[in-house]
Amino acid sequence: MHGLMMERALTISSLIEHAAKFHKNTEIVSRTVEGPIHRYTYGEAYRRVNQLANVLKNLGVSEGDRVGTLAWNGYRHFELYFAVSGMGSICHTINPRLFPEQITYIINHANDKVIFCDLTFVPVLESLAEQLVDVHAIVIMTDMEHMPETQLSNIYCYEELMDSTTDEFEWPEIDELQASSLCYSSGTTGSPKGVLYSHRSTVLHSFAVCSADGLAISGRDTVLPVVPMFHVNAWGMPYASTMAGAKLVFPGGAMDGKSLAELLIDEKVTFTGGVPTVWLMLLQHLKETGKTLPHLQRTVVGGSALPQSMIETFENDYDVACIHAWGMTEMSPLGTVGHMTHALLEDQDTDLMRYKVKQGRVLYGVDMKIVNDDGTPLPQDGEAFGELCVRGPWVTNGYFEDDPTSASSFDNENWFRTGDVATIDPHGYMEVVDRSKDVIKSGGEWISSIELENIAIGHAAVAEAAVIGIEHEKWGERPLLVCVKADDINASGEEILSIYEGKVAQWCIPNAVEFLDELPHTATGKLQKLTLREHFKGYRFAD
Ligand code: ADP
Repeated sequence: MHGLMMERALTISSLIEHAAKFHKNTEIVSRTVEGPIHRYTYGEAYRRVNQLANVLKNLGVSEGDRVGTLAWNGYRHFELYFAVSGMGSICHTINPRLFPEQITYIINHANDKVIFCDLTFVPVLESLAEQLVDVHAIVIMTDMEHMPETQLSNIYCYEELMDSTTDEFEWPEIDELQASSLCYSSGTTGSPKGVLYSHRSTVLHSFAVCSADGLAISGRDTVLPVVPMFHVNAWGMPYASTMAGAKLVFPGGAMDGKSLAELLIDEKVTFTGGVPTVWLMLLQHLKETGKTLPHLQRTVVGGSALPQSMIETFENDYDVACIHAWGMTEMSPLGTVGHMTHALLEDQDTDLMRYKVKQGRVLYGVDMKIVNDDGTPLPQDGEAFGELCVRGPWVTNGYFEDDPTSASSFDNENWFRTGDVATIDPHGYMEVVDRSKDVIKSGGEWISSIELENIAIGHAAVAEAAVIGIEHEKWGERPLLVCVKADDINASGEEILSIYEGKVAQWCIPNAVEFLDELPHTATGKLQKLTLREHFKGYRFAD
């Protein structure tokens, strides 16, 4: 017997309709690429979202078509999120930090029909234009006054198009399982792969983002998403803030410490989220200027591991809760958040910092397990580490257009294999130990390359470190430490290796050290160990 409840589809347009109706006067503030601060409300945004849907229709965009965006966090990008998905087409956010050949690849792979582009990224498009197969219109996201001189053909001005339409649009009925947006992973492991979100997955994910043990976004918050809208939909914050009716503040392209501090203070921001690098710039600026953050209550940090020193600085110097979170493009992205449990807070003897640096506890909606090499689940004792697998309604079911790696990304029970190696402790806190392709398998035991790198960085003579596995006759693989030397201090390989004594088991210590002038990185700044492994292919340890 079915329940007798209404079947209302969970759609992205319902989020903005709700905000326009019940949070009509709540503000959306943007630092624009052109310079000035722009302000309007959810009510006005909705009116323009209707206009924009008409613009899209006039440009020949129809259901299922992909519409690319190359844009910073701002109100026009926000309008695209809702107009494109709301009319049944797919909002493809393109990461402009990727290498040019990767950008060309994903635009063509996604068959983008129209591209909306911020002024900043016009030169990027100019350099690629000839190789773009399906793009028949490029809309520059500005007004007539700021339209650039460009060689691009088929270009339009966003505001001119908006002025030419009405704000009445007949929104189509949408099946909640329909695709809504597309985001490519940055390709730490091979070509970028497309993750295709649905209306349902996006709305369910927004509920999780708003939940108290998620990012706790509410109608009392002013939210500043620092993480770009071209990176996993700014971790879903624009959708979740619209659901909650939170005031939104968009930083545009100004991610430096000074610009962020200005917005955080002037707009009385209570909640923000971003990767550790951005916060380092902000904290340095605050230190230099003596400014404080009187309104900010909490910041969520993810994308890479959150250092303990950053938690301490935010908490002790600025009275801001600094919360660690983990996720990935394939998970919309939210998986775990590092809030403290009642049990930990009650126990006077607990060192809370030990838990705050972990990646956090899983949210309802995501199921999680760690498994060994043959797929057997491992105990959640905080010691055993294995590949982290997840499943849930906002986890991908396969890459866009059947990427050949799709099959190997799932185990035989259809759990998604994250490629992260982790522990889960008895309190449920997950800790990322390594990437599965980077972990070193020595004599049947696993050695965490990240742990060895973090220790090496502690040596004054080491500016940057990477540890990779090198084939070894007896042990299968043994760790090699590759370092970039610090400018002013000289040390031998042996001296550097001595830093491991007493910090890790003897058998985990790297067999040797090699020095390079620089280490290879991906476009988003992550270490590219694939290239490093190729560089050291055929390497043999001296003994
Ligand atoms: P990519 O395309 O580089 O994989 P994602 O943004 O999807 O881009 O990155 C997801 C990966 O980033 C995760 O699988 C994990 O390895 C890493 N990551 C994300 N958050 C954290 C975190 N809090 N701590 C450590 N690593 C993290």
